[in-house]
Amino acid sequence: MLGDAPEQGAKRNRGRGASRSPADNLGRRLDALAATVDLGARVADDPLRFPKRYRDPGDVEVAGAFAACLAFGRVSLFAPVIAACLDEADGHGGPAAYAAILADASTRRAFTGRYYRWLDDVDLRGLFATLGRARARHGALAACFVAGSAAQTLEGGINLLRKELPDDASRALRSLFCRPSDGSACKRWCMFLRWMVRRGAPDFGLWTHLDPAALVIPLDTHVFRVAGFLGLVEGRTPNWRVAVALTEALGRFDSADPVRYDFALAHLGISGTCRGHRDAEVCPACPLDAICKAPAAATSADASPRSPRRR
Ligand code: SF4
Repeated sequence: MLGDAPEQGAKRNRGRGASRSPADNLGRRLDALAATVDLGARVADDPLRFPKRYRDPGDVEVAGAFAACLAFGRVSLFAPVIAACLDEADGHGGPAAYAAILADASTRRAFTGRYYRWLDDVDLRGLFATLGRARARHGALAACFVAGSAAQTLEGGINLLRKELPDDASRALRSLFCRPSDGSACKRWCMFLRWMVRRGAPDFGLWTHLDPAALVIPLDTHVFRVAGFLGLVEGRTPNWRVAVALTEALGRFDSADPVRYDFALAHLGISGTCRGHRDAEVCPACPLDAICKAPAAATSADASPRSPRRR
């Protein structure tokens, strides 16, 4: 499927004659990891597959925001809920059209009986309605997120979306709209922005008013764990400060597109390839093997099964 970034990024940051410092070696290993990931196969197991159902930019941004908001926990559990909701939206003209319909507060029935974790059908409808009202007021979700620092872009965009929440929005629905100022890593919204802004595969690159260099990596459990193995992050809590620090560290290897490593890092875990500890069966084939400082054996916290997991 798509694929520009690895070699272009490497050329931007490391010339042919560059010496092999430890940092340079790390960059080359990350480039190798990004180059070897099977984008087509991995997208099929990623929430990105939901906005990929659409071509219209309005449908892409609504489906993307909705899917990103529900992309927590096990892929096998949230994916059917997103698919069912989007199927219902498709029956009403597509996600953008359905969001516009649900933006009318008098429309009370949608996603009946659907739920995911603590979000019930009222919350799912409220999320769609919020996106619809934001689009009605600003023309597009893209217009809510204006250029600036990553924190400014996210904070401003999410604040505008929060203004469109239903008056009776539940705590569960409001929790989807956390901001950098709350200390949250804002993984869902960073992932959504990556999808919309990054020009390279597997992302859309639709929001050209924002600079990929200003994105912050979506810091999920997989990325956080592997970044720790590489010495790129410290601590036990994946918060906003750590997400920014990791992005800055990755920017040493591709300053124009630091989050291009996100997809490959995340899918080391999502695919079940990385077991969270050194493993004689899988580690020798991993591009990060020579620089990975994962523990020798699984701890109860690190142990992960070999089938689909979390995003
Ligand atoms: S533990 Fe093994 S599979 Fe996981 S990142 Fe390290 S070398 Fe790669």
